[in-house]
Amino acid sequence: MSAPRRYHVVTFGCQMNKADSERMAGILDDLGMVAVEEPDEADLILYNTCTIRDNAEQKVYSYLGKQAKRKQQQPDLTLVVAGCVAQQEGEQLLRRVPEVDLIMGPQHANRLGELLEQVFNGSQVVATEPVHILEDITKPRRESEITAWVNVIYGCNERCTYCVVPNVRGVEQSRYPQDIRREMEELGRQGYREITLLGQNIDAYGRDLPGSTADGRHLHTFTDLLRYVHDVEGIERLRFATSHPRYFTERLIHTCAELPKVCEHFHIPFQSGDNELLKAMGRGYTREKYLRIIDTIRSVMPDASLSADAIVGFPGETEAQFEQTLDLVDRVGFDQLNTAAYSPRPGTPAALWENQLDEETKGDRLQRLNHLVAQKAAERSQRYLGRTELVLVEAQNPKNAAQVMGRTEGNRLTFFEGDFEALRGQIMPVKITETRAFSLTGERLVPAAIA
Ligand code: SF4
Repeated sequence: MSAPRRYHVVTFGCQMNKADSERMAGILDDLGMVAVEEPDEADLILYNTCTIRDNAEQKVYSYLGKQAKRKQQQPDLTLVVAGCVAQQEGEQLLRRVPEVDLIMGPQHANRLGELLEQVFNGSQVVATEPVHILEDITKPRRESEITAWVNVIYGCNERCTYCVVPNVRGVEQSRYPQDIRREMEELGRQGYREITLLGQNIDAYGRDLPGSTADGRHLHTFTDLLRYVHDVEGIERLRFATSHPRYFTERLIHTCAELPKVCEHFHIPFQSGDNELLKAMGRGYTREKYLRIIDTIRSVMPDASLSADAIVGFPGETEAQFEQTLDLVDRVGFDQLNTAAYSPRPGTPAALWENQLDEETKGDRLQRLNHLVAQKAAERSQRYLGRTELVLVEAQNPKNAAQVMGRTEGNRLTFFEGDFEALRGQIMPVKITETRAFSLTGERLVPAAIA
């Protein structure tokens, strides 16, 4: 019997991509392949790519170039490019790197097995046409044994002028609530404790679904979905991302406050603090609306954690407009903010505009924003000092074997002394003794005998 084929998956980009990678790794496992850490030891390498940032795309090409060379010595090496670069570049990618065996867009992730069969039969395959995503029947291979992502809606119907997602991931396709719940129940049985429900625009969930379920219940909105899946046995914590301020409802805020398993943590990208720029970005809300959402969250859940995404240096952004972004960050005081300097993405409207900013201005603004973000995050961290937080133990601290690490409900990474094997997957009360901008250290409050 020949040795099993070894595979290696490299993931770039967002949580959606990470979730797709886990799903594809699950398919490779089902095909009898074995995951390896080192790309150079693998017989199949899958790059799950992202076009959001220019440097991620460059990286794909440089990794791919190296493996394409290896393939010249080792012709049975299989190279797969999946994800958004694959979708966008399609056959052009084959012209640039003819050694690639399979190019597949994100909508085709569930078809990996079938596509590979064609490859193993000697074809070079490009699968980028739009498809209707059939219900996932694949079992994802999860990177964590404690926390998992579950897709609830694929694609996006928005048209943000800087974003490639609608081009590469297609129109919104919600999964049926029953299928989502079934996947979550299975995860609960397998010992998972926390689930993050995922969608590019999760507030759009359900818009494309027919009106009601077999038992006559109407499950149109994401809020309804949260209620429907909330009591899944074994799952102790629920999170979700990504929220869109345009569709974010008060009803959702009240539901989150009411359902005990939903963590009081909201990730709501605002992208810019300036109304004119928000309009140019095609975001469909104003700074005032965004601030109203934050006020409502804080009035209902005063301790809720807030995170967001922001872009600086969007075409035409003036210094005064950028300062509106700084001002919004200052007012809200985010626990965490993902920042990026705008980079034009092929196929998006804003990439063609003439009022692009120079790299120096973008770099300077990014630095100033990051500085403020770190300062605000450190201030926010302070509130934890001396408090007891419930931490879900996810792993050993890779830098200190005597410590374990996990997250508070508010999603702050927290370290404390303990044995991972004994504490794995448990939610422990931890008294916070030290705070940093983006992480905490504490002491476990229960006697070791309990653990
Ligand atoms: S909401 Fe806008 S930024 Fe988010 S995926 Fe859709 S188009 Fe892109």
